[in-house]
Amino acid sequence: MRKKIVAGNWKMNNDSEQTDALLEDILAKKPEFTNAKIVVAPSFINLQAAVQKTHGTNIIVAAQNMHQSESGAFTGEVSVGMLKSIKVNTVILGHSERRAYFGETNALLAQKVDTALKHNLTIIFCFGEELADRQSSNHFNVVESQLREGLFHISESDWASVVLAYEPVWAIGTGETASPEQAQEMHAFIRTLLRENVGDKIAEETSILYGGSVKPDNAKEIFSKPDVDGGLIGGASLKANDFLGIVAGIE
Ligand code: 13P
Repeated sequence: MRKKIVAGNWKMNNDSEQTDALLEDILAKKPEFTNAKIVVAPSFINLQAAVQKTHGTNIIVAAQNMHQSESGAFTGEVSVGMLKSIKVNTVILGHSERRAYFGETNALLAQKVDTALKHNLTIIFCFGEELADRQSSNHFNVVESQLREGLFHISESDWASVVLAYEPVWAIGTGETASPEQAQEMHAFIRTLLRENVGDKIAEETSILYGGSVKPDNAKEIFSKPDVDGGLIGGASLKANDFLGIVAGIE
């Protein structure tokens, strides 16, 4: 059985008070009664407080990014060791905003993946096509390249530490969700790619999340698709009711 996961990517939102308040709100609503693993990704500066606040609960705290090098003269960056030292063991890599605004390429992401895996972090690896790619029917090729160039070099045993997150860029923050059928079509394509490149077992066991304008009222239908194993949520993860409404979409 694949893990069902709902992850909230808080992006550059919530100061420390707001982070505290949102976590308290989520915890007060008893998210333990779910089959889903729940992940939240606050900003770097609020990670440590989030780890402390969620200690002993079923909520996992993830970072939104990390540097590919283990240490050194990289002003303003955060290393894998720093994350581990505050007990953050999960990291989101390859988000489309990192790719688009911070120039993260597939080759760079391959290095980040290696560094994260070397230190036993779980990776939520994001990828997805832009609108122009879909309009020109190039979306499967784009997704395939992102996976081949950023991720497919890892060893068989490392796949246990990888969660995939398909996030079509045109659906992020736009209110325009991929239809459940579009999501399923791409997720099935990804699972076939896994089957062909890394084998049946890994293909069956790897969770593939969908991200892009998931809301409480569309989550259940998207999550009901056979190859969709949960979601990576942006805007709707900033309110406890909405986020847990989405979690409730997991059967
Ligand atoms: P929205 O849910 O706001 O569309 O964002 C999705 C996302 O980018 C999650 O990483």
